[in-house]
Amino acid sequence: MRAVVLERQGQPLAPVTLPDPEPADGQLLLTVGACGVCRTDLHLRDAEIAATRLPVVLGHQIVARTEDGRRVGVPWLGWTDGCCAYCTSGRENLCERARFTGRDIDGGFAELTVADERFCLPLPDQLSDQQAAPLLCGGLIGFRALRLAGDAARVGLYGFGSAAHMICQVGVFEGRRMFAFTRPGDQRGRQFARELGAVWAGASGDTPPEPLDAAIIFASAGELVPAALRVLAPGGIVVCAGIYMSDIPSFQYELLWHERTIRSVANLTRRDGEEFLALAVRIPVVTTVTSYPLERAEQALADLRAGAFEGTAVVIP
Ligand SMILES: [Zn+2]
Ligand SMILES: [Zn+2]
Repeated sequence: MRAVVLERQGQPLAPVTLPDPEPADGQLLLTVGACGVCRTDLHLRDAEIAATRLPVVLGHQIVARTEDGRRVGVPWLGWTDGCCAYCTSGRENLCERARFTGRDIDGGFAELTVADERFCLPLPDQLSDQQAAPLLCGGLIGFRALRLAGDAARVGLYGFGSAAHMICQVGVFEGRRMFAFTRPGDQRGRQFARELGAVWAGASGDTPPEPLDAAIIFASAGELVPAALRVLAPGGIVVCAGIYMSDIPSFQYELLWHERTIRSVANLTRRDGEEFLALAVRIPVVTTVTSYPLERAEQALADLRAGAFEGTAVVIP
């Protein structure tokens, strides 16, 4: 099969030909239709998070077909032990022995892949492969982050990329007022956010016209944490939604005072997947997608790093 692999961190992805994967017990052999590009893929490529095995096929937002013709989504959570304290308390996202697609298990930047059937999500027919793929991590993690923000009526989104452009639509659907923060000078991103229903869009250091009840940080710059605390109302929460963030600078306790909270969101549960996919169809969430052929996956990562596209990117084998 054709695939692109990360052979060494810090090096470009390389197009290669690999033997077709063979499904183990409980795994499905899958023909990939589309695979979304996530910032986590870029963090692995750029050595900002550790690889667990090399070479590895990246990609964990996989829309694929089974040998008997069913269409499924393969998300980041690829396997759990099912028996640890987290798995047995509804928190399989924190499983101590979890294995993740496109890091511990070869992912979807390939013609074929294998996945544990128990962790494959059925996909609604209404969504095309390209529309569905970005929902499987960006959408799902954004959804989990929004749920952790509780019933916040005024929600700020820091970093208006793949996850934010989907979750902005969810927030608007739920009657929340959404505020978008982009890199200084990114007028195009702010316009994009307003088109998706944000009531205000500004630069990441700006103060919005009213205080916020929650801020979700999708960008990986640690200095956004105190910046977000600064614009929160008392009782507000900052949710850090990325797998990697640069160091958070120290800040005055006063910014946290009045019961403000900072927390992270890690991974997803299968239940998040089922709930979010059903909701995404009902809204419906419309993804803005740029497609790249498989052999151009490295270019997709470069464009993500450079902020060269709005919304999200998918790789098509
Ligand atoms: Zn577990
Ligand atoms: Zn991801």
